[in-house]
Amino acid sequence: MTQEKRHIGEFELIDRIKTVFPQAPVGIVGIGDDCAVVPQCDGWETVVSTDMLVEGSHFLLDKITPYQLGWKAAASNFSDIAAMGAEPVGSFLALGLPQRLLQTEWTDEFIRGYKDISARFGFPLLGGDTTRSEGGASICVTVMGRVRKGDAHLRGMAQIGDYLCATGLLGDSAAGLDIVLNGASEACDADYLLGRHYLPTPRIREGMIIGATQGVHAMMDISDGIASDLRHMLRASGVGAEIDCRALPLSKQLLAAYPERAVEFALCGGEDYELLFTASQGAVDALKDLPVTVIGRITECGPEGAEIKYIGLPEGLDSKKLCGYDHFKK
Ligand code: ADP
Ligand code: MG
Repeated sequence: MTQEKRHIGEFELIDRIKTVFPQAPVGIVGIGDDCAVVPQCDGWETVVSTDMLVEGSHFLLDKITPYQLGWKAAASNFSDIAAMGAEPVGSFLALGLPQRLLQTEWTDEFIRGYKDISARFGFPLLGGDTTRSEGGASICVTVMGRVRKGDAHLRGMAQIGDYLCATGLLGDSAAGLDIVLNGASEACDADYLLGRHYLPTPRIREGMIIGATQGVHAMMDISDGIASDLRHMLRASGVGAEIDCRALPLSKQLLAAYPERAVEFALCGGEDYELLFTASQGAVDALKDLPVTVIGRITECGPEGAEIKYIGLPEGLDSKKLCGYDHFKK
């Protein structure tokens, strides 16, 4: 039978794959969370995730140094381990590189960046694969972590009445990307914003502390922007949320350089690699020594399903049009 051909987005494709492989084996968390969760027989669970960076879609080789690329490829993956509240076990690195990059000056710097972040966060490199690419470069990293049985924080665990919280500062990375693509204004601390874009910090330590705190429920990392990522959490949990845009944690550097776009960058920009989680009042109190900000509440589902209600949205931003970064969009 011939089927009508039509173009689809990243998340629709994942949904279609999930329909073909609807169920993970009993006891395993499969497609749909930041990591899969696989029980071990010794009271631990292994969490695993894989993510790919492709030249042209995720990076432009003339705009990023090999050191930064090595760091960032690992950071975006380590962040998914943090999202589960897990501790590091190790990583695997698969490289498809065109001939022009197969020279020691480039590869040594790439490996140095990958090594520095791996050493800093305690991820030994355990293997990988290497091949020549006839097209652009692609970098695929697989990471493994572990949690005590039942302690993994899934996207579907949000409870009505929870506080919605974020670690760190949001929107800096998107501002850094804007500088890369469009140049910096005079009011801009470009070094800071570019550093946040090129050398992001995965919240491994914070993820483990937050994950171990009584009353913390759902957790995920913010890789595509809250406007998109939070929607995944709400759908998985069958709840709604409200975000107070005036409470979003924004750096002074972001506010100085982009006073009118800071909130948009925080909601829709990608690659912050902060953590988004839901928690009871007691858990929020217990986490007061960490850089954690309450940005909203988990509510019941609205009439149209798992909606986000934005409070204090700046003029000119339309809540219906807010979306995160989508690599399939041109
Ligand atoms: P993240 O941003 O946390 O890496 P993604 O949005 O990339 O998550 O993926 C969402 C979920 O879909 C994850 O559970 C991931 O494992 C799964 N997924 C993504 N692409 C595929 C694929 N091609 N086949 C199977 N599962 C996939
Ligand atoms: Mg993730």
